[in-house]
Amino acid sequence: MQVHVIGAGPVGLLLTALLQPMEGVSVRLYEKRNEYTRTRMVQLAPYLVADSVESYRADAIDGDSVEAIFDPPELERGLAFRQSIPSDLSELLESWAQGFCPLKSIEESISALIDARGLDRVERTAAVLTAEDAMAMLEPGDLLIDSTGSRSLLRDHLVPGNGDAEEGANTLKVRLEYALVITFLYGQPYDCNESCKYYKNIENARYKFIPMVHRTHYDGSVSHVTGIVNISPEEFEAMPSRFDGEWLRSHVPGVAQSMDRFIEKIKQETHGEILGDLEIVRIPLDLYRARNATSRQWLTARPSDHPFASSPVFLAGDSAIGSPYFQSISLGFECAMFLAGLIAQRDLPLAEMLDRYELYIYKQWLRVYMRSKMIKHNKDLFESLDDPIALLNKLHIY
Ligand SMILES: Cc1cc2nc3c(=O)[nH]c(=O)nc-3n(C[C@H](O)[C@H](O)[C@H](O)COP(=O)(O)OP(=O)(O)OC[C@H]3O[C@@H](n4cnc5c(N)ncnc54)[C@H](O)[C@@H]3O)c2cc1C
Repeated sequence: MQVHVIGAGPVGLLLTALLQPMEGVSVRLYEKRNEYTRTRMVQLAPYLVADSVESYRADAIDGDSVEAIFDPPELERGLAFRQSIPSDLSELLESWAQGFCPLKSIEESISALIDARGLDRVERTAAVLTAEDAMAMLEPGDLLIDSTGSRSLLRDHLVPGNGDAEEGANTLKVRLEYALVITFLYGQPYDCNESCKYYKNIENARYKFIPMVHRTHYDGSVSHVTGIVNISPEEFEAMPSRFDGEWLRSHVPGVAQSMDRFIEKIKQETHGEILGDLEIVRIPLDLYRARNATSRQWLTARPSDHPFASSPVFLAGDSAIGSPYFQSISLGFECAMFLAGLIAQRDLPLAEMLDRYELYIYKQWLRVYMRSKMIKHNKDLFESLDDPIALLNKLHIY
C-alpha cells in the first residue's frame, strides 16, 4: 500500500514513524520546510503514555468526559495499540510526557529516528505541494494523509462541489478569545497553582497573566514560564504577530505593568531573576474542527471520477482539529496512533475504515470542545473573582 503523508510536522512525522515498520506499506513524506526551527516549549499530556484505562482517565479537566464519550473497549483498543509501538518511538514519547522541550526537538528526534531505522520504506520529498499536485499524484488505492497543520491543504477539498474548494466550507470554527502568549525564563524553581495565579494578579484588574496549567517548568537551572493574557480584538489588530518586552512597554503599557507586578511577586517569593527578555506572540484562540475528517463524501458523490473517490484522504493533527490552551500536539498524536492502527488492519473494508476514523475524530472533538469551553469559562470567572456581581452575571445556575 502506498501512503502519501503531506506535512512533516510532529503529527506527519509520528504517523510516518508508526507506518514505517508495517509490512507492505510504503510512505512518501512531503515537507516544504528545509529545517526545524520552532523553539516554543511543549509537553505531551500524560494520558498519551498512560498504561491503563484508569491512568488514561486521570486528567483533572476531562477525565469524566473521557468516560462519558468513549466506551471501555475503545479505550482498551487504544491502549493495546500504544503498547505495540516499537520501543525506539515509545521511549521518545515517554520522555516528552515528562517535561517541556522545544517543538523542534520533537520534530528533529522523530525525523532522525525515521532516517536511522534504515528500512527502505520511506521516501522524502522537499516541496510545497498544492491541492492539485496532491490529486495528480494519487493512483487508485493510494492513501493520502493531510497533516499540513491548521491551514490544512485539503480540508476544504473534502466536500464535493462543482469547482474550486470554498474556503471554510468544511470547517467549524469557534473563536474563544484573543490572547498574548508570553514566555520568559526565570533563574529559580517556580511553580504555580490556582492560588498563585490569583494572588500574583491581585492588583491586575484588567490584564491578568495566567500561567497555563502545568505551563511552568523547571529544568534544573531555569524555569520556563508561559502564560496568556486576554486582549481585545482591537488590541489584537494593532499588534505585530510577534514582539518583545520593549515593544510591549511602549505600545501596551497596561499589559507590561501587569507583567511587572506578577514577576515582582515571583521574585519576592523565590529571589530569582528574569533571564533575557519576554517573548510575546499574539494569537486568536480558536477551537475548530473539520466537519469531514476524511474523503468519505466523495465515495458516494456523482460523478465519481474525482481522485478522492478512489483514493481515501484523512486529515490528521491540526488539519483535523485545533484547540487553544495547548493540548493540540497530544490530540494530534492520538489521532495519528488511531489512524495507524486502522491502516495496520489490512482486511478492514475502506468504507468501515473511513466511518471509524470519522467517529473517532468526532469523539475527540466532543472531548476537546468540552475541555476548552470549561477552561474558558473558568478563566472568565477568574477574571471577576474580586467583583461578586460581575461573577454572578457569568454564572448560570440552573
Ligand atoms: C504559540 C503556540 C504555542 C503552542 N504550545 C503548545 C503546547 O504547549 N502543547 C501542545 O500540545 N501544542 C502547542 N501548540 C500547538 C502545536 O504546536 C500544534 O498542535 C502542532 O504543531 C500541530 O502539529 P501538526 O503536525 O498537526 O501541524 P504543524 O506543526 O503545523 O505541521 C505542519 C507541517 O506541514 C508542512 N506543510 C504545510 N503545508 C504544506 C504544503 N503545502 N506542502 C508541504 N508541506 C507543508 C509545514 O511546513 C509543517 O512542517 C502551540 C501552538 C502555538 C501557536
